Amino acid sequence: MQTVDVLVVGAGLAGLHTARLLARQRLKVMVVDRRRSLSTGIRTTGIFVRRTLDDFDLPDHLLGPGVRDVLLYPPSRRAPIRLASDRDEYRVADMAAVYEHARRAAESAGARVLLGVRYVDASMGVVRFAGAGPVTARFVVGADGARSRVARDLGLDVNRRFLVGSELVHPIASGTTTPAFHCVLDPRVAPGYLGWVIDDGRHAHVGVAGYPEAMRTGIRHLLDAFAADAPGRAAPAGQVERRGGPIPVGGVLRRLACPAGLLVGDAAGAVSPLTAGGLDPCLRMSELAAAVAAGYLRTGDRRVLSRYDGDALRRRFRGRLLLRRVFAGIRSPAAAEAAVTVLRGRAGRALAARILFGDGSFPDVGPRPADPPIDRPCR
Ligand SMILES: Cc1cc2nc3c(=O)[nH]c(=O)nc-3n(C[C@H](O)[C@H](O)[C@H](O)COP(=O)(O)OP(=O)(O)OC[C@H]3O[C@@H](n4cnc5c(N)ncnc54)[C@H](O)[C@@H]3O)c2cc1C
Repeated sequence: MQTVDVLVVGAGLAGLHTARLLARQRLKVMVVDRRRSLSTGIRTTGIFVRRTLDDFDLPDHLLGPGVRDVLLYPPSRRAPIRLASDRDEYRVADMAAVYEHARRAAESAGARVLLGVRYVDASMGVVRFAGAGPVTARFVVGADGARSRVARDLGLDVNRRFLVGSELVHPIASGTTTPAFHCVLDPRVAPGYLGWVIDDGRHAHVGVAGYPEAMRTGIRHLLDAFAADAPGRAAPAGQVERRGGPIPVGGVLRRLACPAGLLVGDAAGAVSPLTAGGLDPCLRMSELAAAVAAGYLRTGDRRVLSRYDGDALRRRFRGRLLLRRVFAGIRSPAAAEAAVTVLRGRAGRALAARILFGDGSFPDVGPRPADPPIDRPCR
């Protein structure tokens, strides 16, 4: 049986970035993903915010043109609030290319990436798969998304509160539109979240997300209804792709690490509860996760794991979790019209600009100096 230092389950952005950082520490790292190709089964729009692009090195050619304008619509779609930034606030990535780039970076650092291999379970350091023989792993990183099996098998916390999102993506004829991010607050199509159209002049993404229990007619039907007359949507100039998946919005989970492994990305609940953005947290939290995992594997000291402490991180999410509850409470068109009216005022516009253009959607997760011992066994 093969032996590795770290087995990473999931070759999304969180898994590939963590694998790369761990392999750079000269650890023997294997990544598995059930997807046969990284360009299929994509579950994200791929909007990267300015702060992520400032802090992490994403090659320019993987990113679309910058988007500076946001239009916020009430359910009536009339008289949207326009917020304009003097900087590029968003860039939509070619996610298939981003995953391929991240895979190559992980492999160049020494990690082995196996596709078409599904994690089945892990027990006493032995990990079993469908599509490959078992391996012995000193440490398992659960980067297997919102409904993580690894989290469950390690006895760590699991996500319980989700939005579901779905979108259509297609190329558009160049020069026919002005790049903009259209956000529609309409609980009839997106209960608890938004309908969106983001158009960067090359591609359009048209989507809805909301609480699944409030989407009685089903998300596919709601997306098609929204897309039929979504504001700012240009006609497709090529193939239309569908994407979608769950989005954990309960905040970072409390129990993220134990001596047998840890969680990153959606598996860790590392998504801004307010904006539902998870790409920045994938990169930001993976840096801390990799430093902690490498430190633990080098020293064998369980106290190192306490630096990856979801409880401490959650404290910094209180305001965002409160705003999520306010957002979730907007369940009728009249309430949504009223909310947009509030945002039209000076203070409302300032709040909207802070959420949409600010740097605070996900906190910094730098290492903490205090290392109280944790000695909580894994299952
Ligand atoms: C419709 C939608 C749009 C979104 N848009 C944005 C956006 O524009 N900007 C933003 O910041 N965030 C966005 N998000 C959230 C963001 O995409 C996620 O938070 C982020 O991609 C999570 O990355 P991850 O690596 O943790 O998980 P994932 O990208 O989900 O990767 C998990 C990987 O694990 C693999 N896997 C799962 N189970 C197994 C198994 N048993 N064995 C092997 N492999 C397994 C999966 O195949 C997958 O490749 C969006 C989410 C949705 C649903």
